[in-house]
Amino acid sequence: MTSLPLPVEPPPPLFQDLRVEPEEARSILRPQKDERYGFGFALSPYRGCGHGCRYCYVREYPNALHKPEDWGGWVAPKLNAPELLWSQRHRLHDARVFMASATDPYQPLERQYRLSRRCLEVLLLCPTTEVIVHTRSPLVLQDLDLLKAFGDRLSVGFSIPTDDDTVRQAVEPHAPAIPSRWAAMERLAAAGIQVTLGVAPLMAVHDAKAFARRAKVSGASNAWVGGLRLLKDDPFYKLLADHRWLKVLDPDYVEGIRQAFREAFPTRRRTRPERPGKIEVLPPSPIHQPGLFDRVG
Ligand code: SF4
Repeated sequence: MTSLPLPVEPPPPLFQDLRVEPEEARSILRPQKDERYGFGFALSPYRGCGHGCRYCYVREYPNALHKPEDWGGWVAPKLNAPELLWSQRHRLHDARVFMASATDPYQPLERQYRLSRRCLEVLLLCPTTEVIVHTRSPLVLQDLDLLKAFGDRLSVGFSIPTDDDTVRQAVEPHAPAIPSRWAAMERLAAAGIQVTLGVAPLMAVHDAKAFARRAKVSGASNAWVGGLRLLKDDPFYKLLADHRWLKVLDPDYVEGIRQAFREAFPTRRRTRPERPGKIEVLPPSPIHQPGLFDRVG
């Protein structure tokens, strides 16, 4: 694998106006009954997400205390998440756990609360449990030794929806810069951890072939392309229109990106059926767009 001379930038600092609302959660494992997702439980150590991506479908979920437009401005760390998980460990034998479906487990608050780390420490003690950690943040590297301790029972998924950081700044203003994600992927892969790239939800791409090649040289062993899910009267539509990025909704455009990844990752075999109504992923991942229909847990 070619190693690219990328700096590992620190993740963005905590969003200054973020409201932190610690809570005691009543549940921590959300069963996923649809086998097409490829995991048994979703585990979210936080409610809300400090990355506040503008397209995030989770912002629309019913919540008595927060409006959709406040998404990204509040986070509720589940203070008892590790203990709750420990009390539920009997459910985890031979289980596949996805962390996290409705938040980013390595959002900036994780530096302070370490809830994702402590949940991973519990999962490590459940010997047959498989874990998929999904994030947009190089902060995941702070737990590199712990991730390695899982061996091949753990993989990391990185979301990089575009190859252009100016696009990222418009759609994910509080999430880490794309170069820092590539660098983190390289570090994980070099440490022997399986890394999957999720081009999801697909945003405007500058050079699809170079994007796919970059995923390859950054150590991804798999990649998938997931489509944008717009909500009813979604203000994100206007953002796309203002930037002339409505092409991301065009199936032909999506297919072009998908083809570029198909060429870069030609050897992966299909492991599960396509999901109806969703853009085909390429190559198919053991998981689909995480938590697409999950509610905030
Ligand atoms: S990182 Fe994930 S959960 Fe957080 S705002 Fe972005 S899309 Fe939503």
